[in-house]
Order: sequence, then structure tokens, then C-alpha cells
Amino acid sequence: MRIAVAAIVSRRRSFSCDGGHSAVRKLLGVPFPGIPGRMSSVVADLTLASRSETVPRVSEHFSRYPKSANGFFTVLHPIDGERYRLIFGRFAAERPDRELPITTEEVQEALTAVYGPETTLGELLAASRFSDATRQVENYREGRVLFAGGAAHIHLPIGGQGVNLGIQDAINLGWKLAAAVRGWAPEGLLDSYHTERHPVAARVLRTTRAQSMIMNPSRDADLATVRDLFTDLLRLPDTNYFVSGMMSGLDIDYPGVGPRMLDVDLTTADGPTRMVRLSRSPRAIAMLRGALVPAPTRNRLCGIGLPDGMALPPGGEVRSFRRGLGSLRRTIGVRCGCHGRSPCDVVSSTSG
Ligand SMILES: Cc1cc2nc3c(=O)[nH]c(=O)nc-3n(C[C@H](O)[C@H](O)[C@H](O)COP(=O)(O)OP(=O)(O)OC[C@H]3O[C@@H](n4cnc5c(N)ncnc54)[C@H](O)[C@@H]3O)c2cc1C
Repeated sequence: MRIAVAAIVSRRRSFSCDGGHSAVRKLLGVPFPGIPGRMSSVVADLTLASRSETVPRVSEHFSRYPKSANGFFTVLHPIDGERYRLIFGRFAAERPDRELPITTEEVQEALTAVYGPETTLGELLAASRFSDATRQVENYREGRVLFAGGAAHIHLPIGGQGVNLGIQDAINLGWKLAAAVRGWAPEGLLDSYHTERHPVAARVLRTTRAQSMIMNPSRDADLATVRDLFTDLLRLPDTNYFVSGMMSGLDIDYPGVGPRMLDVDLTTADGPTRMVRLSRSPRAIAMLRGALVPAPTRNRLCGIGLPDGMALPPGGEVRSFRRGLGSLRRTIGVRCGCHGRSPCDVVSSTSG
């Protein structure tokens, strides 16, 4: 019964989205290969009885919070009113058992190490341990069961990419599953979920491992030179663009599909709008050349915006998708949705 809550179950397919400790994955005996955790950290919500000057008083940009001293690294920031969230750990220390209860003494030790003895714990409201374990299921589809989010991949949460990654999995899979269940999915559409999403998470797993090396506060001189070099590289606009596109997931470009649709001005039968507004609803967007027509026709189609925000380029893929497009009753025709890389010959405009 509990599993049924964590997974969306249909007669023919189940969707496992029950997190890194996925009961569905374990019950099916699906391997979760990867690298075991080498460090352990704690995330805790707490109040402070007293605070040194170094404790942040107000919410600021996240980059202001990370600190390290005396072998500990911390992130401490106010949540609301009196409550704080503290993340702390020690890279060099032996990794405690994940199930070991978190004591007020170990929280106080981290606070003292980084914020001084004047910073004292008030109440420990909630706390749990997490690690840098990095794992991914080999196939996102195991028979009738499809895995998404933490059930499919885990990694050090550094860089804040996990939620985005899981939501993108769900969006990519959601409309394909609907198409398969309703019977209009072109052949291979459901399998494209694994083909498209597995490499995306694999890249996040690789880059979070790299990040965990760079953020390691150890005094290792060689590591410090790598960190300095990377800091310099990030100041270059091209590197900055590359890394921000990668961490936000906005640079994803599925093979044979296309890039994310750009947020361009569009004209629809209901008036002017923007691509990002249309993309909020789970509809395909047919991008047409010339004047609007009630239904998209093949010879005027210059691209399709898929319900997950990606753009199908013109050509064979568009034609193979035509059957599905015809079945999508809520497809909307927009005029001239040039999505950047397609050879669409009408430039987008709100005026025409
Ligand atoms: C300390 C920490 C900080 C993080 N910070 C960030 C951040 O800033 N940004 C970011 O993007 N990511 C962050 N992450 C990662 C992020 O939390 C995960 O990537 C994300 O929660 C995964 O989402 P999910 O829905 O796949 O799994 P989960 O969030 O784990 O959700 C799974 C759900 O399934 C339920 N469930 C499980 N088993 C059962 C069952 N048998 N029956 C019923 N229900 C069940 C669980 O109760 C849970 O609600 C952080 C992680 C940690 C540990």
C-alpha cells in the first residue's frame, strides 16, 4: 500500500519516484551501481541560544554561507524567525553510520569549530545524515516499471541540481507515458525516456563528483591549485556560460530532438504570447510558417515544441511525430516559432 503511494501505478506501467532509498527498486532487486559514500554530512534545523558576529542574521545569496574551519565545513543560514538550517561535515573524519542518531554534542562541536564558542545550540528541531554516494540505475525502464528522480540516481546535493533533475525526468516521462497509455505514442517514444534522461543524470553524477573534490576544504596544496585554476576559468564568460547551462540543465540537447525552445514572442489564435507561457501547459506546440490555420498541416510545419519544452526540428522526426500530433487534441498552432537552430524561414514576431 505504501509503495502504491510512492509510485504512480497503471494497469500496464508503474512509475517509481520514491527517492534514493526506493522500496520499489529494492523489491524488484534492480541494481544501483556506483560509488559508495566517502564522507558524511548532517543537515539540521535548529535554533541558536547565542550567536557570534560570524553567524548570518539575514538571508543572503547562498554563496555567502559556506564556511570551513578546524576540519569542518558548514553552511548556516536563517530560515525564518528564530530557525536556522545548518549543514556540516568533516571530509577527513571516519564516516559515521548513516543510521547513527545525531547528537546535540556533535552539532555543537561543528558550531564551535566554525562560528566560535559564543555560538551555542538552542534546540535541535530535526536532523538527518546524507553522504556523497553516487549511484544510478543502469536502465530507467525495468520491464513495466520506470524509474525517475532519486529512485534512478543519487549524488552529492552540491550545486542544487537534484530537484531540477528529478522534475525534468518526470516531465520527460509524463507526456510519453500518457501517449503510450492512450495508444498514440510513435514507436520507441517511451524508450526515448531512458535514452534522453540517463545521460543527463550521468553527467550530473560526474560533475558533482568533480565539485566535491573542488570544495574539499583540505589544505592539500595540489587541490588548492586546481580550485584556483577553476576559479579563474569561471571568470571567463564562455566557461561561465558553459557551467551555468550545465548546472541549470538549460543546455540539454537530446540527440535527434533538439535544443530547449527559446523564449520567443509568438502569435497564436488567442493573440500574442511568449513561448515560456505556452510551455507551462503539457501541450505540444506546432510551429507553422505563414498565416495561422486551424489545424497544423505537414507542409507548413517548421517544428514542434514538445510538452517537455524541447523543440523537434523539421524533417523526418517531425513527420514521424505527425500521427501523435494529430491525436493531441489540445495542440495549438502558433505562427512562426523559430527556435533558433531550425531553418524556419519566418522570423517570430508579435505583430503579424
Ligand atoms: C541536505 C540536502 C540538501 C539538498 N539540497 C538541494 C538543493 O538545494 N537543491 C536541489 O535541487 N536538490 C537538493 N537536494 C537533493 C534533493 O533533495 C533530491 O534530489 C530530491 O529530493 C529527489 O527528489 P525525489 O522526489 O526523486 O525523491 P524524494 O525527495 O526522496 O521523495 C521521495 C518521496 O517518496 C516517499 N516515499 C518513499 N518510499 C515510500 C513508500 N514506501 N511509501 C510511500 N511513500 C514513500 C518519500 O516519503 C518522499 O516523499 C538536497 C539533498 C539533501 C540531502
